[in-house]
Amino acid sequence: METTKLIVGLTGGIGSGKSVVCSRFANLGIFVVDADIVARQVVEPGCAALQQIQSHFGKDILEQNGALNRSKLRDIIFSQPTEKEWLESLLHPIINLEIRRQLSQAESAYTILASPLLLETKQFQLVDRILVIDTSEQLQIERASNRDGKNEAQIISIMRTQLSRQDRCARANDIIQNHGDISELDEQVEKLHQLYLELADSMKQSKQ
Ligand code: ADP
Repeated sequence: METTKLIVGLTGGIGSGKSVVCSRFANLGIFVVDADIVARQVVEPGCAALQQIQSHFGKDILEQNGALNRSKLRDIIFSQPTEKEWLESLLHPIINLEIRRQLSQAESAYTILASPLLLETKQFQLVDRILVIDTSEQLQIERASNRDGKNEAQIISIMRTQLSRQDRCARANDIIQNHGDISELDEQVEKLHQLYLELADSMKQSKQ
C-alpha cells in the first residue's frame, strides 16, 4: 500500500464478531472502512455501476424506486456462474477504488479495513497487517442465525463460500479469539490497539 499510514485488514467468517470488534475499535477513535458498506454504496441509484448492471440484466433488475433488487441479483448469480464472474469483474475494481479513496481520507493514528472477503479477493493487498476474528463454527452458526433469523443450513451454506477457519487463521498476523464474553473481547481489542499505535508510530518515524 502506497500510503504512509498503517492499515489493518480485519476479517473473519460470518458471525465471527467482525462488526462488534469494529465498533470497539471505532469507539477508540479508529477510522473503519467497511467493504460491505462500500459494496452497497457503489451500486446506489445514480452510480455508473448500477447503470451497467441495468444494461446487462435489463430493467427488471431494479426495484420500482430505481434501487437495485439485490435478492433478484443474488438469485441470478447464485445459479449462473458466468453472470457472477461478469458482476465481479465489473464491481471489484470499482469497490477497490472507493475503498482506497475512503482509506486515504482517514485521520486516525491507523486505519481498519473490515471485509468478510479480505482474503478471498485482492483486498488484502491494500493492507499492511491481517487481523482475523476467530470463533468456533458452532458459535458462528448460533450467533449468525440468532442475528439474521436464518436457519443453520443457510448459515452453513454461506460459510462454505468463505475460507475455512484454518486457512484464514494461517494467514493472520493477529487473531482475536471470540469464544468468550464481550469483556474478554475488549481486553484483546485494547491490547491490539496499543500494538497498532506502536506500529503506526514506528512506521511514521521510519518514513520521516
Ligand atoms: P460478523 O460481523 O462477523 O458477521 P457480528 O459482529 O455481527 O459478526 O456478531 C454476530 C452476532 O453475535 C451479533 O449479534 C453479535 O452481537 C453477537 N456476538 C458477537 N460476539 C459476541 C460475544 N463475544 N458474546 C456474545 N455475543 C456476541
